[in-house]
Amino acid sequence: MRVYLDHNSTTPLRMEVRECWLEVAGEVGGNPSSLHTSGRRARAWVDKSRERVAAALRVHEDEILFTSGATEANNLALFGSLEAAGAGLLTTAIEHSSVLGPARELAARGFRLKLVPVDEQGFPDPRRIGALAARGGIALVSVAAANNETGVLSDLCAISAELAGLGPVRPRFHTDAVQALGRIPVRLAAWGVDLASFSAHKIGGPPGVGILWRRKGLGLRPLVFGGGQELDLRPGTENVPGIAAAALAIELAVDEQEEYAARTRELAGWLWHELHASVPALRLLGPPIDSERRLPNALCVLVPGTDGKVLVTRLDLAGLEVSAGSACASGSVEPSHVLLAMGLSRDEARSGLRLSLGRTTTREECRRALSALDNTLASSRAT
Ligand code: PMP
Repeated sequence: MRVYLDHNSTTPLRMEVRECWLEVAGEVGGNPSSLHTSGRRARAWVDKSRERVAAALRVHEDEILFTSGATEANNLALFGSLEAAGAGLLTTAIEHSSVLGPARELAARGFRLKLVPVDEQGFPDPRRIGALAARGGIALVSVAAANNETGVLSDLCAISAELAGLGPVRPRFHTDAVQALGRIPVRLAAWGVDLASFSAHKIGGPPGVGILWRRKGLGLRPLVFGGGQELDLRPGTENVPGIAAAALAIELAVDEQEEYAARTRELAGWLWHELHASVPALRLLGPPIDSERRLPNALCVLVPGTDGKVLVTRLDLAGLEVSAGSACASGSVEPSHVLLAMGLSRDEARSGLRLSLGRTTTREECRRALSALDNTLASSRAT
């Protein structure tokens, strides 16, 4: 039996979510924009799903936009905000490629772009963000709630307090909350954000469904144009079964978050302590394993003298599925931009290995993962 410790890349579809998808796909034959009975039935699923997502996130239902994933939600937040306001973007050097990609494209189109560095543990400094935003010309600040490679949590409350200090013309604040949902409490009001992106496939939902939460009244320009769906901001016929399945996955993830965090924190802590005891040269990136400032389920370790991508292949042969840095960038030979931004050398950054546990991970699987890691690291050192 293989052990899957790559839940920050994607998660297995939950059985109840799969059943919901199949039920809706089988039952709904109409287009939600059609006036007939089949269309109204499809519309009811979309409306009900929006209500359920809004209730789970404790926001208004007309603040929820369904998209094709978090990549699109992030693009819509960035392009939609900047093109509406005509000013620049401030983000961090460790954002996911679905934020850094549109950020660079916006810069190429003439928008101002400021990339804030992070410290050696991977934290952006809220005061620095506040000071840079105070210089003016910034319409949007975008900072992820949790980093997908290191699991480091940003202090969103401190950043929004800095931005609030800039008065009524403060920039709007977006967070990519993909890795936070289901893992830590999502508190959009307390975080003080105006926009937040989520993805269903990171929490046992289907791939290809994302959400952009947008504070009521916030102006956005659409990326695509067509029919009037999703308040004219994301036209196109709705992915009705995907949306219904995503809504269920989000409800379950929010309901079970506390239990998920306690379980994965305990298992990840055990795994790190055992691994470190057996290979003392390993280095844990980010704050200490028991810190509240990291995701409960994920650890990123440096394995000195190895290439993380080679190690991933060897571990795969040993039955353990993990990743080296971000899966979205795994086709590239470049070391992770996140680890480089934390001040690591290119060789160090190449030796990063990410283990991310999930809802279904058991202690027995962690034991098997440990033994695969032990054996593979021992044979890597021997060669
Ligand atoms: N942001 C983060 C932090 C992610 O981890 C991912 C998925 N790798 C995305 C955005 C993109 O999400 P999606 O796959 O739904 O486009």
